[in-house]
Amino acid sequence: MGVLDKIYEIVSKDRVFTSKSDLYAYGFDASIHHAMPSVVVKPKNSEEVEEIVKLANEHCIPVVARGAGTALCGQAVPIYGGILLDMTGMNRIKEIRIEDLYCVVEPGVIYAKLNEALAKYGFFFPPTPGSGDVCTIGGMIAVNASGMRAIKYGATRDYVLGLEIVFPYGRVRFGSRTLKNSAGYQVERLIVGSEGTLGIITEATLRIAPLPEKRAVALASFNDVVKAGEGVASIIANGLLPSALEIMDKVCIQAVKKAMGIDLPDAEALLLIEVDGKEKVVREEIEKIAKVLERKADKIEFTDDEERMAELWKGRKGVLPSLSRYGEDMISVSLADDMSVPISKIPIAIKEFQKIAKKYGIIVGTYGHAGDGNLHTKVLINPKKEESWKDAEKAVNEIYEVVYRLGGIASGEHGIGITKAPWLNGDVATMERIKKAIDPNNIMNPGKMMQWKKGIIAYLRYK
Ligand SMILES: Cc1cc2nc3c(=O)[nH]c(=O)nc-3n(C[C@H](O)[C@H](O)[C@H](O)COP(=O)(O)OP(=O)(O)OC[C@H]3O[C@@H](n4cnc5c(N)ncnc54)[C@H](O)[C@@H]3O)c2cc1C
Repeated sequence: MGVLDKIYEIVSKDRVFTSKSDLYAYGFDASIHHAMPSVVVKPKNSEEVEEIVKLANEHCIPVVARGAGTALCGQAVPIYGGILLDMTGMNRIKEIRIEDLYCVVEPGVIYAKLNEALAKYGFFFPPTPGSGDVCTIGGMIAVNASGMRAIKYGATRDYVLGLEIVFPYGRVRFGSRTLKNSAGYQVERLIVGSEGTLGIITEATLRIAPLPEKRAVALASFNDVVKAGEGVASIIANGLLPSALEIMDKVCIQAVKKAMGIDLPDAEALLLIEVDGKEKVVREEIEKIAKVLERKADKIEFTDDEERMAELWKGRKGVLPSLSRYGEDMISVSLADDMSVPISKIPIAIKEFQKIAKKYGIIVGTYGHAGDGNLHTKVLINPKKEESWKDAEKAVNEIYEVVYRLGGIASGEHGIGITKAPWLNGDVATMERIKKAIDPNNIMNPGKMMQWKKGIIAYLRYK
């Protein structure tokens, strides 16, 4: 009996996909990479995942988990083929325990759907990635996603209390349903950020938080992007803790205005600052932030109008897709796109990135979660021109040199996959030892992170 027949014994035929068009479509995520799986399987429970992974292990077949496929570094692209597990069929919210501050979910639950369910109780799951309307909890855990509100609320890692995981040798549980846990190795934490290279998450117990009573926003315009960066550092140095502190440079502002028609000032840079909490506290904090920025910003708009705040956030979340409509024949590619630097180094980092862009004659749009030092620099290139890729690669290499020189790190939230593999830091040999101990046949998302040894312009989706 062939492997496909054995798969049909585990999962019903209507949840197994083998047509060329399906395999082609499942070969993409939101990165520059593409490769087709041999078969796609859509499990509906942990038992099915366990059976499939055991079968794959017996036959040394690669297994790649996929949530919504919004990863930006090729994490969900099955570069060596094999079985692609579409986890979106496991999308039940199993439990919401407000009095115990946790919920239990399957990995295919969409972030926004979980928050819709929690909002009924006045609670939320805070990490807030820009892709939150579509991305799954499993994908968020596997990449340690975070977003606009990480400055105050932290990243996905800070909310994972327990996990059920399918390793090649079987299904196991780690962590607890308690807020505190000092009992042994915290393997659940190791799984966060492992990008599907160790096991498949089949259930997650997540900490939740009460929704703030009030939110208000300040939009500060600057005639110099470095001044905006200095503004960020001053807000933090003054002991203020906004719930979001985002930066957008001129390229990003113009891209959003052009593509989305959103009303933003024509500035060199903008800071979008959100404060949340009790009404009185929100008012006081916004006033303090205004005082800190008074000498640096040209203009500051304040609003607590829900419609205007929603418009401003829509604009901020729309930067990434808007950049691909910035110029003729140009698209925005995620290369060096989410490095983190110490907060005080933001002005110098932005200045250095601009110098590098000028040197190679390329356009780089910089935006991101400046409040926690996490910058997104999207490179705009013509994907049909080889020269364009080469220049981008050289520029990106130099960008990472700057990042490490400033004490930063290659990825603050999007992960490593293929696109950032050459700049992964830490002791790679230890990572390989952990991988080998759990996955000796190297079937779990092989070839990613520390295993990717080639350049980044590989398995390109652009032919
Ligand atoms: C427009 C846009 C905006 C974005 N904004 C942000 C942002 O603000 N912050 C941020 O952090 N990221 C952001 N991202 C990146 C991406 O959305 C996140 O990394 C997200 O968490 C990925 O979730 P997903 O469900 O799409 O996972 P996928 O892309 O499907 O998978 C990502 C990785 O997780 C693994 N995986 C998925 N499910 C499982 C599972 N059950 N078990 C084990 N491994 C699994 C996959 O193998 C892969 O390695 C953005 C992407 C886009 C396109």
